[in-house]
Amino acid sequence: MKYVSTRGVSRGDDFASVLLSGLAPDGGLFVPDTLSPFSSDEIDSYRNQDYATVAKRIIGLFSAGSVSQDIIDASVDAALSRFHHAAIAPLRQLNQDTWLMELFHGPTFAFKDYALQIVGELIDRQLAKEGRRATIICATSGDTGAAAAAAFAGRSNVDVVVLHPHGRVSDVQRRQMTTLPDANVRNFAVEGDFDDCQAMVKELFMDPAAAPLNLTAVNSINWARIICQTVYYVWSSLRLSASGPVNYVVPTGNFGNILAADIARILGFPVGKLMLSSNENDVLPRFFNSGSMERRDTVETLSPSMDIQLSSNFERALWLAIGGDTEQVAAVQKELADKGRYTLVAESLEQLRQRYSATACGREEALAEMRQAQKESDVVLCPHTATAAYAARQAGFSGPTVVVGTAHPAKFTRAVELALGHPADMPALLAPVMEAEERYSVIARDTDALRDTLLG
Ligand SMILES: *Cc1c(COP(=O)(O)O)cnc(C)c1O
Repeated sequence: MKYVSTRGVSRGDDFASVLLSGLAPDGGLFVPDTLSPFSSDEIDSYRNQDYATVAKRIIGLFSAGSVSQDIIDASVDAALSRFHHAAIAPLRQLNQDTWLMELFHGPTFAFKDYALQIVGELIDRQLAKEGRRATIICATSGDTGAAAAAAFAGRSNVDVVVLHPHGRVSDVQRRQMTTLPDANVRNFAVEGDFDDCQAMVKELFMDPAAAPLNLTAVNSINWARIICQTVYYVWSSLRLSASGPVNYVVPTGNFGNILAADIARILGFPVGKLMLSSNENDVLPRFFNSGSMERRDTVETLSPSMDIQLSSNFERALWLAIGGDTEQVAAVQKELADKGRYTLVAESLEQLRQRYSATACGREEALAEMRQAQKESDVVLCPHTATAAYAARQAGFSGPTVVVGTAHPAKFTRAVELALGHPADMPALLAPVMEAEERYSVIARDTDALRDTLLG
């Protein structure tokens, strides 16, 4: 399979190059040049298969002709061996028609592990094959940094550099990144907010003096991450679709997770309606109402991993919804960069609305939902997942509906205590990070100084 840019440039990139690079050369995002539905026999052949088999087949499909199936198989097996639940993505019934998909049984207890553990294996093996080293750099509001550090710690061909905003991630999130003993993991707490961290990463990528670092991005625009996430939609939709297509409600920030569900639907798997939930940073619900994308200042909420104003993967969703109209995508992205906002033409908005709907959930609603879920179903939700449970209740879909559980509640002690009056039980595997010694440096928002430190 070959890849093209959402903004039009096509130079025949293959999966390996998409895996190891960030943006397409014209600043757009890589997307497959063809994406056609499977036959019903093909779909049936995925039924009753375990998670690992589904993962190997789906990732193999998107990397065909580039990365060998042997590398895919070994990567999936090694990655999944580090998960704590035999089903990998267990489905827990909440009531008659609603299930919780628990995507927090990986090493860092958030759904980012489901892609990054596999992508870490793939990148390390591909670099070894090409005889190269790389520096993985990422800016994080909490979960991505922890998952990336865990995925690349101790690997021989990769160094990892993680920037987080000083004092603005939860204690558990920070400790997960900073207590790893491996010398190839370096953490920096930037005196600034998440946007400052992200800007420093971009500046490093554009700095010719940083070239010797051979920087590689694993933020959520990396296509390989999306494909690894499509796996749990394929697997779960086939398990629950006896009475019709399965609807999903997804706590959303950068739009990567819900986009992965749309890919499963495009391939012909029984995925029904897709709804995203947001917190008070409700740029996407406002957009689906009005057709205008308009960034505002980010407010701090109980669900920090969704405190985002510009969803980078939305560009792919738009490209898919409007039939690959690269001119329109490029025009809209230019307007966004120039003016900080755009308004979509009515026809394109309608095409997007046919694929997704959106609901915002405020702080009090999220806390009430956490209490309700405990009372009704004896389950403790993380504050991100609570926004989706709330949105699912509002939506009242008919047919099986899955609330996507994006993190373990123990990662967000403060929100759980506010809602329930007591902390969530700490999983035994998470407890040691609360004791271990931390390693990180607090730095100013000074990209040149950081580059010099890294070049050491
Ligand atoms: C990253 C994250 C999200 C947002 O996912 P996107 O793919 O960026 O939309 C939601 N919840 C949690 C807990 C996360 O870590």
